[in-house]
Amino acid sequence: MAVQSVPSKTLLISAIFSLLVGFPSQANSDNVEKLTTASSNSNLAYEIVSSLTLEVGPRIAGSEGDKKAVAWAEAKFNELGFDKVYKQPVRVRNWSRGLSEAKILTPYSHNLVVSALGGSIATPEKGLQAEVVMVESLEALQQTPADDVAGKIVFINKKMERDKAGKGYGPVVVGRSQGAIEAARSNAVAVLIRSVGTDNSRFAHTGAMRYSPDVPKIPAGALSNSDADVLAAIIEQGNPVKLSLNMQAKEHGWQTSYNVIGEITGTEKPEEVVLIAAHLDSWDEGTGALDDGAGVGVVMAAAKLIKETMGSPKRTIRVVLYANEEFGLVGAKQYVKDNLDDLKNIIVAAESDFGAGKIYQFDTRFAEQALPFAKKVSTLLAPLGIEEGSNTATGGPDIYMLPSHGVPVVSLRQDGTEYFDYHHTANDTLDKIDLEAIRQNQTAYAIFAYMMANNDVDPRPAPELEPVQ
Ligand code: ZN
Ligand code: ZN
Repeated sequence: MAVQSVPSKTLLISAIFSLLVGFPSQANSDNVEKLTTASSNSNLAYEIVSSLTLEVGPRIAGSEGDKKAVAWAEAKFNELGFDKVYKQPVRVRNWSRGLSEAKILTPYSHNLVVSALGGSIATPEKGLQAEVVMVESLEALQQTPADDVAGKIVFINKKMERDKAGKGYGPVVVGRSQGAIEAARSNAVAVLIRSVGTDNSRFAHTGAMRYSPDVPKIPAGALSNSDADVLAAIIEQGNPVKLSLNMQAKEHGWQTSYNVIGEITGTEKPEEVVLIAAHLDSWDEGTGALDDGAGVGVVMAAAKLIKETMGSPKRTIRVVLYANEEFGLVGAKQYVKDNLDDLKNIIVAAESDFGAGKIYQFDTRFAEQALPFAKKVSTLLAPLGIEEGSNTATGGPDIYMLPSHGVPVVSLRQDGTEYFDYHHTANDTLDKIDLEAIRQNQTAYAIFAYMMANNDVDPRPAPELEPVQ
């Protein structure tokens, strides 16, 4: 995300305010030091993600794993001593992947690693066979004459670039979400994409895809990056390439899942809420350790460490584990709908959903009067290697709609250099989590939430911002 320059008037006001209040105050610094020491000696975030991935495992929305995860989350909140534990129902569609097979038939025979995209329909029971047409991007597909595509399998071969902030994701993920719609417009029989991932392994990266009511539904899958390279190399030799594709995904109808919520009740202003979040669901092939078991561990552990080390905060700390993020932020949208009257009580929200890499930057989206306080929190986070960022934060996926209701958000930006090597693959497992890195996340969330819950600062309302380029 580009850092937007802060208007100079804002800077001036911040500077004057800083001089007047003087910080970081000794009390805050001492308390934060105590919290940091406790967190440095705690493996709690890691232990929580370990428990979730080992005892529950995969938990795609509406599945048995999802039901187990909801029960696990309730039990874990209680075990950790949260004051209030409750859940809010969310209706979710349950989809299962089933068999996914792809094979090059001519000019040479090769088995390809493929994974159905989330929500895809199945191929006919015995699979389908068709010639492949390769395009370099979704935009290129839109410009390809329909006659070149009709009756064929479209292969979108766009590579994702590695980037610390994950900037490579956006330009490529549109092919995943909209590829089936654009291919079907030209009467393709199926669409395959190169995985939205930065690895060169034989793991395919799944992820949600969409259909449009005005075009037929066609099956959609992702090839592992290694297999995408093989297919591209054979196509580039110039002979027609024929593929067979057999994917047996199924819809199982509607189920009830839950946003699971744990609170540490505030002692002085219990109605004012500091909300920290992650999502409880995951894809089905791995165990969702990085996405988003790590986030679940970090936010649960941060709140628990605050209560255990510093006692109950002045404001309430609410940990929300959202249902069904992966199929389109379903739990997050339901949360807003069901809690409209309560949104005005949320002082600030943050979400951890970018793996377990270290946090390197603290961005806010605060009203002007709270910018000096944002600076103060930055100062306290600096010893963890976290730099002060901009005031253009958008929060995580499940909280992105909150600023439009006036709720301020922050982004504790994580190093995502390696995140997309594993994201949405069968290889997203516990061994990918670095203990020291997740502990740094736990400490940073604990400091941030502690500071917001124990001071009188009010960063509301979140400023309207120009969309960030
Ligand atoms: Zn996620
Ligand atoms: Zn995800």
